[in-house]
Amino acid sequence: MAGNSPLEPWTITRRAVGPNDVSIDIKWAGICHSDIHMAREEWSKGKPFPMVPGHEISGVVLAVGSDVASFEAGDAVGVGVFVDSCRACAKCREGKEQYCTGGGKVLTYAAEMIYDHQAEKGGVTYGGYSQRIVVDANYVVRIPASLDLAEAAPLLCAGITVWSPLMFYGAQARSKIGVAGLGGLGHMAVKFAAALGAEVTVFSRSEAKRAEACARLGAHHFVVTTDAEACGSAAGSLDLIIDTISADHDVDQLLGFLKNDGGNLCMVGLPPSPLSIKAGGFVGPRKMISGSNIGGIRETQDMLDFCGRHKIACDVERIQAADINAAYDRCVASDVKYRFVIDASTM
Ligand code: NAP
Ligand code: ZN
Ligand code: ZN
Repeated sequence: MAGNSPLEPWTITRRAVGPNDVSIDIKWAGICHSDIHMAREEWSKGKPFPMVPGHEISGVVLAVGSDVASFEAGDAVGVGVFVDSCRACAKCREGKEQYCTGGGKVLTYAAEMIYDHQAEKGGVTYGGYSQRIVVDANYVVRIPASLDLAEAAPLLCAGITVWSPLMFYGAQARSKIGVAGLGGLGHMAVKFAAALGAEVTVFSRSEAKRAEACARLGAHHFVVTTDAEACGSAAGSLDLIIDTISADHDVDQLLGFLKNDGGNLCMVGLPPSPLSIKAGGFVGPRKMISGSNIGGIRETQDMLDFCGRHKIACDVERIQAADINAAYDRCVASDVKYRFVIDASTM
């Protein structure tokens, strides 16, 4: 696709399988809201086009390189938001490749391959809306057999992006956790927080998702953010809010739901325009505003293993490649429960 125009079929060639590579027969690719921000150039102009989005990839190993011992043909595997990093900095060595300081992570699509160790150095990455992908084995994760591949694909971004801050900021039994925006990321935050034993409150714009959030996803409370009375009764109650909202929104209102003296609003959503925040909303009551970006490879594997043990996966709507443009519009309208996944055999 070219910048800001509808997606259309395009033929790409994947590299030959190198000694450290895994060649993957893609089965499903999730549609993350980040794909839409990227494809529509909402974050920044000048990304390389044509672009092949897709960083929530599940599939089956077709072949592995001669030096790969960790995977074999037939394994169920996943690829997430990045396919390489410097491999040498402190963050890479810690397994937090997403925060690589030695040149940065190489995103799964629309990123230049900058490292000498990359066979295609100088080229651009193409993502998961495709039939095959070849990825260095260090950046491939294993999908537990108990998970359906379509329902597992969005764990590779939506899942890990909310799992990581829940772990980092210490969500545990009896924590009071809020989730703002019940989309792809939000519905996984609810499932994870509930599975960890937390008391979960969803903040959504209408009543439309209340029944499902509470009956099926595991939320304990549901607050409609346009209902002043409900908002008043939730004020000052939460330890941590995972803010997944993809567009401009009232951050001051969300800060009001946090406990004084340490309540933390963790932004994972990436609205394209700057947010306006009143300093008094967090300075006076000593509240924190923080952020979190996807997760490392090791942490992604931990999350997948947790999902495998607890049979947790994403609620998906399965679509064909021809439906992608319509799915983008529906996603922007929050009309999806809760993630579109594309059947890669229809690419
Ligand atoms: P999504 O499925 O579209 O969900 C976003 C949710 O935000 C919607 O379901 C909606 O919830 C709420 N929302 C949308 N527009 C809103 C508005 N104008 N005002 C208030 N609420 C609004 O998107 P997603 O795939 O979960 O991604 C969410 C955001 O996270 C995106 O900006 C994406 O780029 C970003 N992201 C960040 C990371 C990271 O590493 N930090 C990783 C992946 C994605 P309700 O219908 O419940 O109101
Ligand atoms: Zn994503
Ligand atoms: Zn690094």
